[in-house]
Amino acid sequence: MSSKDAANEGAPLRRGLLFVVSAPSGTGKTTVVERLVQRVEELALSRSYTSRATRPGESDGVDYNFITRARFEQMVAANEFLEWADVFGNLYGTGASDVERQLARGCDIVLVIDVQGARQVRLRYANTVGVFVLPPSFEVLEQRLRGRSKDPEEAMQRRLRMARNEVAAFAEYDYVIVNDELEACVERLRAIVLGERARLRSVRREAELIVESFIEKAPR
Ligand code: 5GP
Repeated sequence: MSSKDAANEGAPLRRGLLFVVSAPSGTGKTTVVERLVQRVEELALSRSYTSRATRPGESDGVDYNFITRARFEQMVAANEFLEWADVFGNLYGTGASDVERQLARGCDIVLVIDVQGARQVRLRYANTVGVFVLPPSFEVLEQRLRGRSKDPEEAMQRRLRMARNEVAAFAEYDYVIVNDELEACVERLRAIVLGERARLRSVRREAELIVESFIEKAPR
């Protein structure tokens, strides 16, 4: 019986796994994770809340839940975030009840959040699986950022400074992958998810049920 079948019967065989992916801006983490969730069953990408303005091509309820700063602050005061952080002067946060509901249903979730947010999540959920995505080098990151953005030089300098602080946190994570080539990076991340799903702590209940059926049915 898969965890999905069990969930259909009411109680999942295990709680969902919580994956946290962090990387400096420009590493390509969003594309990597979007491909990952298309490729792996029963893995959902958590949609964050943010006070920042939508960028061209983005829409509310798809890329983020876009809310006002005042609404964000109300949610902070009401303790509605699992974690939140100020990134580049905008507020970003993960809805606590959204995540808890999915984990309780046995659904695995990926959060794509910054280093500060990842630290808060680890404090709340000890079993968080952290993955840090590194760009191959400083030069490659700078090239990617300059290629995709029309930010003024000052904003670019701020992003690069921030990247320097973020990469230094890699050792706080369980896994580190280098995004040298998009497809290879997606596959490494997929391998991590599948590996974590096969760990004893993830499969113990399902395995116990199988073993119980042997105890009941197999000859002594
Ligand atoms: P962007 O504005 O480029 O979409 O995201 C900027 C940064 O905010 C990225 O490093 C991204 O990982 C981070 N971020 C996005 N959503 C969240 C969130 O819910 N919580 C935290 N702590 N960081 C987030």
